[in-house]
This record gives sequence, C-alpha cells and structure tokens, in this order.
Amino acid sequence: MQKKVIITGGCGYIGSHTVVECLENYTKKNGYEQDYQIISIDNHLNSSSSVIENIKKLTGREVKNYDIDLCDYDKTKEVFEKEVNSSSESDSEIIGIIHFAALKSVPDSVADPVFYYQNNLNSLLNILKLSKEYKVENFIFSSSCSVYGNVEKLPVSETTPFGAAESPYAYTKQVGERMIIDFAKTSEHQKFVLLRYFNPVGAHISAQIGEDPKNPPTSLVPIITLTAAGKRDKMHVHGSDYNTRDGSCIRDYIHVSDIAEAHRLAIDFLVENNQNDNKEVNQVEIFNLGTGNGVTVLEAIKAFEKVSNKKLNYKLGERREGDVVEIYADNEKAKTVLGWIPKYGIEEMMRSAWKWQKNVLGN
Ligand code: UDP
Repeated sequence: MQKKVIITGGCGYIGSHTVVECLENYTKKNGYEQDYQIISIDNHLNSSSSVIENIKKLTGREVKNYDIDLCDYDKTKEVFEKEVNSSSESDSEIIGIIHFAALKSVPDSVADPVFYYQNNLNSLLNILKLSKEYKVENFIFSSSCSVYGNVEKLPVSETTPFGAAESPYAYTKQVGERMIIDFAKTSEHQKFVLLRYFNPVGAHISAQIGEDPKNPPTSLVPIITLTAAGKRDKMHVHGSDYNTRDGSCIRDYIHVSDIAEAHRLAIDFLVENNQNDNKEVNQVEIFNLGTGNGVTVLEAIKAFEKVSNKKLNYKLGERREGDVVEIYADNEKAKTVLGWIPKYGIEEMMRSAWKWQKNVLGN
C-alpha cells in the first residue's frame, strides 16, 4: 500500500522545510516505518520553481509538484483523482493533507484584503471539500498566533480566546479555523490539527532551502539579511514607542526547522490516534508552535549583528498598520502531547538565515 501525504504550498517557505523533514526524518518505530510519498501542490504564486529541484538534491528523493491553483476546484480534484489511482497495484491511499498554501504578509493583506480573502479562504474550502470526498482522515492546517490579536495576558495558550483580528491576514486565519471546526462536525471520520505558528524564521542547516518569496518580503528577518547583504540600503524598525522594554514590538521567533518537525510529529499523532481510535483525542486539536520567548525587534537586530559580525543600517520608523504589540507562546501542549522540543535559539535562527542569504540569495 503506497501511503501519500499531500502538502499544499510544498515549495513555499515552511512547506519546503516540512517536505524535507518528512523525507529525511520519518518516524521509524516498533518495526514500522512511516515513510510517506510526498505530493506537493503549489502554483508558485509566491514561491520559486527551483525549490523542488533543491529538495531533490538535498534529500535524494523524488517529490512531485502539481502547478495548480487550489482556488480552482476542478483542477485540484484532478490531482486527487490521479493520485488515488496512480499506483500500479491501485492501492494507494492519501492518508493526510498538510495545508500550507496561503498568503501571509500583514501589510500586503492590509493593501489588498479582497485578494487575501479570496486566495486564502477559497483554497481552504476546496481542499476541505476534497479531503472529505476522498476520505482523507488526517488534516493539518497552518494557522497563526495572529488569531489571538492584542492580548492582556501573556504567554498565550491554546485556550486564550481570539481577540480582534488586527489585519485581513489575521482574519483569514480566524475564519479558516472556524471553517474547519464547523466542517469537522459534518465529517466524523476526519481528524484535524490546527498549528498556530508564532514567527517562523531561519533556514535549513544545509542552506539549500530557505525563505525565498517571489514578492518583495515584508517579514523582519529577510529584510534584515537583504539589508546586511547590501540588496537594500536600509531598513526601518516599525515603531519604537510601544509599551515594551525597548519600545519595539515583541514576537516569538521560532526556527523553521523546528516548525517543520512539529508537522511530522503532528502527522504521526493523527495517524496513530486514528488507528487506535483514541477517544481522548478531540476531533480538532490546536497547538501553539513557538519557543515561549518574547524577543523585541531591536533584540532580533542585535542577535543578527552579533552572529554576522555586521552593522545593520537601520532607522527607527513609524508603527506599521495591523501589527500586534507583543505576543509569545505557551507551548506546553505541543511539548507534552506531540513530544515537540524546539531546539534553536534566536542566534542560531539568525545564523542560518544569514548563511542562506550569503550562500544562495547572494551577497
Ligand atoms: N518589522 C520591522 N521592520 C521590518 C519588518 C518587520 O520592524 O522591516 C517588525 C514588524 O513591525 C513586527 C516584527 O518585525 O513587529 C515581525 O514582523 P513580521 O512581518 O516578520 O511578522 P508578523 O509578526 O507581522 O507576522
């Protein structure tokens, strides 16, 4: 039986690291190898087409990518149809879907909310419908800590209620989670994990894959590395008058490879609990993925300057619309239930991002 996992957005930043993680470190225990065939669906809206080649070089394994817009239901259905029937023994099965494919920039979503709602929500609706039609039991959704909004009590745990969404991007994640919760009630045989990422940064240790968006980046770390590499003259710290220890916003930066590992653990968690019909596991389980440490923008810049030995040309600038002031995770649930232990600190995150910038994107 050929078991397959569909990874939407498999050429994107977190998607590509998760593909590599699943191929390199698949679980081998009790004489059973959970080695799945990975199928990516990615239309390169914001990812480079060379990523699949780099994944192959890095892992020595074949990964198929379908260049399909998930907002197109018929085309996406064709992929499911083909993959279910593609094995010569005609006994292949799609055991899971990890749905990454979505746009993720706070400022871009403020500038073009309709596009954000259209892209992030229509694709989710299609993939949910197809997951049910093709009886895919296990589903993982990329959510975000932005669902919490500005909170009074930190750190945030999975039971912290949603605050007001500060941006259209954040709202797509709140609505996406709600859609899944409502949908799950109508589809008893499926189980869902919603992973709320804090701020994924850094690159694979090999520097063969990393963050390489097609659109100009708006996230802090790529802007830092581009500035240090001289590809931007300067950068701004968006707001230095917030009520935080140095006036800049606080985030919980988390290494992308730690995030990728959490997806592999989440797939194993779903598959095992479905196989054992574990009644203690909820049909929809939610996990925060952060280190638990809050870091200010200025502290992140200092960590970069230390590991790169470069002085960054930055200025204190205006606040950015849509920004949450301060957020970091209570990650106990992911640690206890998934057995997830984030390994990297802020300096290692910055070192790997800088290596990726120097080795691949250019200096
Ligand atoms: N940020 C900044 N300058 C930049 C880009 C980002 O000061 O050029 C700040 C941003 O305002 C926020 C933090 O860095 O406080 C993280 O932003 P990012 O876009 O990376 O992630 P977000 O938390 O918004 O999803």
